[in-house]
Amino acid sequence: ETSSAPLLVVENVGKSFGGLRAVDKVSLDVRAGEIFGVIGPNGSGKTTLLNMLSGALVPSVGTIRFDGTIINGLAAHRIARLGLARTFQLVRVMPDLTVAENVATSALFRGSQGGVAAESIHELLVLVGLGDMAESPAGDLTYIDQKRLELARALALRPRLVLLDEWLAGLNPTELETGIKLIASLRDRGITIVMVEHVMDAIRALCDRCVVMSAGVVIARGTPDEVLADPTVITAYLGE
Ligand code: ADP
Repeated sequence: ETSSAPLLVVENVGKSFGGLRAVDKVSLDVRAGEIFGVIGPNGSGKTTLLNMLSGALVPSVGTIRFDGTIINGLAAHRIARLGLARTFQLVRVMPDLTVAENVATSALFRGSQGGVAAESIHELLVLVGLGDMAESPAGDLTYIDQKRLELARALALRPRLVLLDEWLAGLNPTELETGIKLIASLRDRGITIVMVEHVMDAIRALCDRCVVMSAGVVIARGTPDEVLADPTVITAYLGE
């Protein structure tokens, strides 16, 4: 297996809600080691796609393979244990527990593989920039620090692939710069990343390739520069 082999393969995946095809026959592949972007106007199906990848939703049709294993239909915690973790758009930290405890409880998802040693929790907190906050109640963290914690919780599963759900949304320009560096550092550690994101500067700075969705279908795919110059994509955003 080469480093460019697809780690995640999505084939003709669809999800309907009643009569609405929120995601309609989407196919894509994500190579090991890349940062892959999913962009598109509001309501285009990005969150629905992400929810199917993480097991929060079961596809109506199609196949999702992670490292060769068909994962559509598996429970979210089983997908996480296979090495595919995610962050949530609305941060889901437990405010009364300390920062370190929040990471430790996430690691319980690893089930029979056991918890995470205190040293590796500390290492994860340093990685996301929360090295000094381990004993603080998570509820005391600022917004960006809660996002860092959310990421540390995902990383506690030792994933090979992390799904980032608008992880950079709501950050100020300085925080955005730090956040972009943090995501790049995850790739440097060999973690494959799929990011749903509205911040186009971040897409340009980080993504090797991306797809653009509109009304449930992929309307463009390629490098960020390629897709953001595509007239079809520009029209789709203007119609938002
Ligand atoms: P995006 O993340 O790109 O904003 P979503 O995946 O959230 O798009 O939504 C795609 C479409 O599916 C929208 O029209 C949305 O209203 C609809 N939708 C999403 N979730 C549900 C649901 N649980 N029930 C019914 N419709 C939904």
